[in-house]
Amino acid sequence: MSETKAYAAPSATEPLGPFQLDRRAPGPHDVQIEVLYCGVCHSDVHQARDEWGGSTFPMVPGHEIVGRVTEVGGQVNKFKTGDLVGVGCMVDTCRTCPNCQQGLEQYCETHISFTYNSTLQDRQTRTYGGYSKQLVVDENYVLRVSDKLPLEGVAPLLCAGITTYSPLRTWGVGPGKRVGVVGLGGLGHMAVKLAAAMGAEVTVLSTSPSKEADAKVLGAHRFVVTKDPEVLKQERNYFDLIINTVGSNMDLNQYLLLLRLDGTMVMVGLPPEAPQIGIFPLVGQRRRLAGSHIGGIAETQEMLDFCAEHNIVSDVEVIPIDYINEAYERMLRSDVKYRFVIDLATL
Ligand code: NAP
Ligand code: ZN
Ligand code: ZN
Repeated sequence: MSETKAYAAPSATEPLGPFQLDRRAPGPHDVQIEVLYCGVCHSDVHQARDEWGGSTFPMVPGHEIVGRVTEVGGQVNKFKTGDLVGVGCMVDTCRTCPNCQQGLEQYCETHISFTYNSTLQDRQTRTYGGYSKQLVVDENYVLRVSDKLPLEGVAPLLCAGITTYSPLRTWGVGPGKRVGVVGLGGLGHMAVKLAAAMGAEVTVLSTSPSKEADAKVLGAHRFVVTKDPEVLKQERNYFDLIINTVGSNMDLNQYLLLLRLDGTMVMVGLPPEAPQIGIFPLVGQRRRLAGSHIGGIAETQEMLDFCAEHNIVSDVEVIPIDYINEAYERMLRSDVKYRFVIDLATL
């Protein structure tokens, strides 16, 4: 066991503050990691404030982790001390169910050990995330990170990157496809960069007119302000795929109408309340509404390698750990370009 400094939410209604936790000594298959940077995902806020229900406290959030290996267990063969590595939303799964067997660990049918606010496979040992100095993870759930990209920009790839890369790949995005991205936040700006790099025509559908110039720099070809229903009407029957990253309640029906024949809207945003879905917009053009959850370990490695090859990182604002409560408030106001990343040297 080693005592590790961290930042935790003591309860759903209190701000985050300093916390001490015990990390296990590395077992034969474990990698011990010094955390260098950790991205701040909107899911951290949802969970720290118990908006989805079932949160456990104290909670140390953080699942966009980049760090350096400080020690490896005797049977680890993928990593050695000094390697740059990443850890995303999962630190273990059952490994035996049909989904785990085919590399779709994010859809494990038995039990996903999420990086925080969860338990290990024993269903008892609680997990604590990347708002901490150090982490110990089984090597099979650790990713290789290129030393060619700025590490603070790589951290958000571990959740925002893979969560948008996976549906873009699943729905076959490439040249000739029209992709809409709803919400230009942490996930949204990664969806724009990745879809553009895959060769698609990308349109940002945003509530913030002020983000238009940024959207173009990120790689978007078109920008639509969604506040005016008349403007949205002009976009009807246009998109092959819409990636919806909004985590607040919104009228999804008007976005479904923007899909052309056989088009799909994939929800990656996770609003706490169930939306009202009209069947008529679905039936009209044989449209589909789908969901997608992060990505598997192999696919996450593929995404990191794709980003290294295409020189893609997240646009980040690096913050000290004691700025985290202010960062949450600013993220809720869409006031971040486009991801906060904690520099753990400040802890
Ligand atoms: P974020 O950085 O806060 O971005 C969300 C964006 O949505 C905002 O920048 C804003 O963009 C837009 N928006 C916010 N409130 C809105 C409203 N009321 N109506 C319409 N648009 C609104 O959040 P994030 O970190 O990207 O996460 C987004 C969601 O994805 C969260 O619910 C998170 O929990 C979820 N998530 C899911 C997965 C998964 O595996 N499925 C993984 C990670 C995160 P504009 O200013 O451009 O409108
Ligand atoms: Zn996340
Ligand atoms: Zn499984």
